[in-house]
Amino acid sequence: MRTILTLLPLIATRRRLFAETVLLSVVNHAALLGISLGLAGVVGRAMTGGELALAAATAVLSLAALIVALATWRESWVSHDLAYRLLATLRGRVFDALRTSLPSRTGARRSGDLATAVVADIETLEWLYAHTAAQTLSAALVLLISGAVSVSITPVLLAVWVPLLVALVIVHAATAARARRDGESLARGAADLRSETLDTVRGMRELVGSAALDRQLDRLARDTHCLARLQSREASRLGGERAITDALMALAALGTMLVVALDRSRITPENIPLALAVAVAGLGPAVQIADLLRSAGTLRASAERIADVLEQPPAVRVTADPAPRTLTDERGLVFDDVDFGYGDQSPTLRGFRAHVRPGEIVALVGPSGAGKTTAARLALRLWDPDSGSIRVDGIDLRALPDPQLRRLVAAVPQSSPLLRGTIRSNLTLGSPGAPESAIRAAAAGAGLLDPGVGLPHGIDTVVGEHGAGLSGGQRARVAIARALLRDPRVLILDEPTASLDAGADAAIMDFLGRAGHRAILLIAHRPATIACAHRTITLGSGNG
Ligand code: ATP
Repeated sequence: MRTILTLLPLIATRRRLFAETVLLSVVNHAALLGISLGLAGVVGRAMTGGELALAAATAVLSLAALIVALATWRESWVSHDLAYRLLATLRGRVFDALRTSLPSRTGARRSGDLATAVVADIETLEWLYAHTAAQTLSAALVLLISGAVSVSITPVLLAVWVPLLVALVIVHAATAARARRDGESLARGAADLRSETLDTVRGMRELVGSAALDRQLDRLARDTHCLARLQSREASRLGGERAITDALMALAALGTMLVVALDRSRITPENIPLALAVAVAGLGPAVQIADLLRSAGTLRASAERIADVLEQPPAVRVTADPAPRTLTDERGLVFDDVDFGYGDQSPTLRGFRAHVRPGEIVALVGPSGAGKTTAARLALRLWDPDSGSIRVDGIDLRALPDPQLRRLVAAVPQSSPLLRGTIRSNLTLGSPGAPESAIRAAAAGAGLLDPGVGLPHGIDTVVGEHGAGLSGGQRARVAIARALLRDPRVLILDEPTASLDAGADAAIMDFLGRAGHRAILLIAHRPATIACAHRTITLGSGNG
């Protein structure tokens, strides 16, 4: 519950919409209650032979019915508007949190878990914002009004109300722990299934190629059955609780009837239908609150997953005074006595030193797992070193504002993500508004304009999701051109040409070598690529 409450302050950002939702919900509930009580009043009068004033009663009840209809329509509209606006804000905050914390998370969390947090969990909260917060307030208010009306008829009716409310609280308390466990298992089961499905869809070709698709589909089927079992257990629990609440409602009506029968001296005959109506209509909100509390298990699991993302510390901290070592005559990229380890693991880099000067291509080589990609990530400041410093043109990366750092350092990672669109839109992702001449120069440098490269519409060729429709070599060229277009001072290339043939590899490395002002750190395994470098630095396993 505490986790759910931490998400409620977001409502303060939309106070006006929330206030309107509460007001409409109160009007709606109060008008419904008014109809029940009004009808009971008319019946009471008819029973006792009192004056009916049918025309006035019909007009008032019709007006109340109209108010219910209008309030229902407007409340549904406003509460959903409120919920969707809050979800958009929350989604923005989750993306901001992911942007700063994601590098440190990827090792531990599956992309399906993150996708679940970003999409499914946030959608689950629609229920919290659209159907819970305001409705609970108005239901509590109507419950109070009904209780007051009952007590004004005869205080003896408290003997019905109090035990009923206590019973509802006991039912909730008795089932809360199980509801929470079930909600968590359901959320976990749904996240696992989503992760498996994402993995399957992404790796479909590899699975077919390695004859593993059937086994993977069996696994998916097992996860689906597991989720179905959890869902059916949840449905059975919800049904049981609903049945108990309905039975309590029936008992309340019965109790009211008994009070009326046993205490005729206190209740006038005219008030008997009213007492029964207020017991049934007034206790409705109590049941509604119980229903809302029942959904707390699932809401809590989703809220926890979102809070977990929001509270994740950033991978790098922006400090007001990073106390950088700024060396004015130093140029290029410098790793100065850098130590770095992932979390509690033994250090990946220890005392790593390297200096890549402008105009130089330095190859970083070493066995698999030695920390070459890690060094590249540190140069992009996806993490900060545990000790030592990394500098560009004499400025410690920790002293560089993010936009300036991104202008100075660009990278072509082992597999560059390409987005749906065209090659042009992918090239200009990090350089919106780049002039056509610069786009064409970068594309030419990466060999994208070569007639033999096989792009039917050149840089206007359409690209599918994750770069679908392009060959590995074409993707590598797009990634290189994208980095070149940003004209960085430092370029990190992590096996950029591994998917190109030897001729294309040599041509691109030759082009890069001729762009004289840039410091290039090249991670490569292929001897021909390494041979293009001016110098080589070797990383030992787990040691700089
Ligand atoms: P390769 O040549 O195979 O690409 P590499 O030299 O580039 O290897 P890195 O990718 O830097 O090596 O990995 C160095 C070590 O750090 C490995 O033991 C790896 O398992 C570990 N490692 C890499 N990324 C993470 C991460 N996000 N979280 C935890 N450990 C990681």
